[in-house]
Amino acid sequence: MSPPGDLLATLTAAPGRADRVRHVEVVPARAGRPVDWPDWVDTELRARFAAVGIAAPWSHQVEAAAHAWAGRSVVVATGTASGKSLAYLLPALTAARQGAARTLYVSPTKALAADQLRALEALAVPEVIASTYDGDTPIEARDVARAHASYLLSNPDMLHRSILPGHHRWAAFLRALRFVVIDECHGYRGVFGSHVAQVLRRLRRICATYGSEPVFILASATTATPEISGSRLVGTSVVAVTNDQSPRGETAFALWEPPLLGGRRSATRAADGGELVGRGEHGAPLRKSTLAETADLLSDLVAAGARTVAFVRSRRAAETVATLTRSALGPVEPSLADQVAAYRAGYLPHERRALEAKLQSGTLRGVAATNALELGVDVAHLDAVLMAGWPGTRASLWQQAGRAGRAGQGALAVLVARDDPLDTYIVNNPDAIFGRPVEATVLDPDNPYVLAPHLCAAAAEAPLTQDDVALFGPSSPQVLVSLTERRLLRRRESGWYWTRHDRAADLVDLRGTGGSLIRLVEGATGRLLGTVDPARAHATVHAGAVYVHQGETYVVETLDLDEGVAVVRPEQPDHTTTARDVTTLRVLDEDRSVMWGEARLVFGSVEVTSRVVSYLKRRFGTGEILGEDPLDLPARLLRTRAVWWTLPDWRLRDAGIAEEEAPVAAHAAEHAAIGMLPLVATCDRWDVGGMSTARHPDTELLTIFVHDGHPGGAGFAERGYEAAPSWLRATREAIAACPCDEGCPSCVQSPKCGNGNHPLDKIGAVRLLDAVLACAPAEPVGR
Ligand SMILES: [Zn+2]
Ligand SMILES: [Zn+2]
Repeated sequence: MSPPGDLLATLTAAPGRADRVRHVEVVPARAGRPVDWPDWVDTELRARFAAVGIAAPWSHQVEAAAHAWAGRSVVVATGTASGKSLAYLLPALTAARQGAARTLYVSPTKALAADQLRALEALAVPEVIASTYDGDTPIEARDVARAHASYLLSNPDMLHRSILPGHHRWAAFLRALRFVVIDECHGYRGVFGSHVAQVLRRLRRICATYGSEPVFILASATTATPEISGSRLVGTSVVAVTNDQSPRGETAFALWEPPLLGGRRSATRAADGGELVGRGEHGAPLRKSTLAETADLLSDLVAAGARTVAFVRSRRAAETVATLTRSALGPVEPSLADQVAAYRAGYLPHERRALEAKLQSGTLRGVAATNALELGVDVAHLDAVLMAGWPGTRASLWQQAGRAGRAGQGALAVLVARDDPLDTYIVNNPDAIFGRPVEATVLDPDNPYVLAPHLCAAAAEAPLTQDDVALFGPSSPQVLVSLTERRLLRRRESGWYWTRHDRAADLVDLRGTGGSLIRLVEGATGRLLGTVDPARAHATVHAGAVYVHQGETYVVETLDLDEGVAVVRPEQPDHTTTARDVTTLRVLDEDRSVMWGEARLVFGSVEVTSRVVSYLKRRFGTGEILGEDPLDLPARLLRTRAVWWTLPDWRLRDAGIAEEEAPVAAHAAEHAAIGMLPLVATCDRWDVGGMSTARHPDTELLTIFVHDGHPGGAGFAERGYEAAPSWLRATREAIAACPCDEGCPSCVQSPKCGNGNHPLDKIGAVRLLDAVLACAPAEPVGR
């Protein structure tokens, strides 16, 4: 088997390929720094770890464990497979062995909790009883778990719906609760993360009534400022441990950019098969599709004998890559084509095991997979990993890249860029991945829309007293007044009471943003497939929308907003859809602001009126535009948070932007800034919106707004404000570095522009951003 450098050479050998590699980062092997077991760790426990092959802990594991043991909440933010679980298992299991101390382990998915349970069962530590407590746990087993578990594995939804509302039955458990483990805590972001943050505040309050004050142990992927995100999540200060001392193999990490396609306006099938040539909106150049490029690379790797997984976003994409790869390999060597398969979510356990076995044995060499593989299947010993497009966050990127690595051999990881500003920026600015992280996990528990239902739930759990108010954050006094006015809570001498007969916890679904969720129903069978957040429904499940749900592709037949139902049918049309909206915006309040010379940067509250007006159909895989259909949907009013910046007219003139160019330049800068926000905040461009104008009635100046897409905000705009120097510099770079002449999807064109990406001026946008950044500080603005 070839080492990573040779594999990469195989990929770049074909004509025209070499200049598609924008960067190669060799992440060197690291030996790992083992340390002695701390004295306080139970001796039986050491023996058990030794029995499963852990002779000594790595130093970061002991550092984190020691904080927790000493009663300090801690976040361990280190790489994939760095053994974060030992950091919480050492204190949790030692405490369990010493007496009645209990641990609550919270994970975002059942699959992860199941993995953890298997690991604990393999350890078989005497006197430690581990039980899961989730929606699938049978009633009898729930009673056993409640009475006896010293290590309870659950999730935020169960905490919210079951454990906290029924805390009287959990009294013994909560009284003895010493540690709360929050695994994969970077997953708690945006609105969902904000809800979970409030659930954890409720947990802390109820524990206090039982006389316990649990220590939080958080496990996170590496991000910027894990201690800040971690503290926001649990509501109390946490120490960060980031010095990863686990061993790893060498990885060659290549950043790959598919080529710009030439000429013709209409799509034609190229002679070499599979590949399509086309032009985008207003004749913008398009790049070769990420999927076609990924399939080409997968073919070459399989032909070279490398075991490779290609990660894509949907089952549809997985099937496309597998089909393209097989048809490329077939004519060369039919037996190779048989070694390629697609893999998706929803396989049964035995199907997964069969696939694992085939990959291990080498009867299967190339797999195109959705992220299902990330959590569901254990594949070690891959030679290479391909990633078709930025997977959304650094954490996901390293999780996917971390799949590659044969003992002592090293591995190849290749990120293939999609045609958008973020991907383009990342492959051309390797520091974004390999340098100090700027992407922070973002949440906003103080959002009144999130807070209100949790104050009700908390009051139902135990009347809220004046002393409790601070725990729930600075918005709580005001939200309590409004809840009392709306007669959801009753104010009495001793505090606030929930006196209604319904369950307060049912007021909110942790995964939604308030309002009732839109149900996704299969028309032919009446089967309920899932739900869609109402904040996103107009844009994602309008009639005619192509909607991907858990990797499966559906077409929406009708959307009934009054009934809250979208009727869909399974179908794989040759196109995808993107909704376009038009927005107006009113400033309500300014929270914070800063002057950068003449430019003013503000974070505050806004009221956004937006209407989805049409949707665009693009050819699947190539992005070529097939047409645009109008939609008739009501306007939505959204009170949310925004970051905005203004420039005076004379400053624009000085920067060489004529009066008539100003709105066009602002429009282009707004699009690119939205596309680049995920660089600094864990969101995607669909979580945020924007608006720009040469003269806004509230500011009376040229203004560019970027706002959160959820009622009350989700923390993304706020993070944009705080990281504005990095964010806007990267935005400027992304536009300036793009080789197109007049704007394209890689720089200033936006897939959701309600004005059809017209007019845009990329040169003006660069000048405008230069003017904004002229007096910007080098470092983030901070709080
Ligand atoms: Zn461009
Ligand atoms: Zn636009």
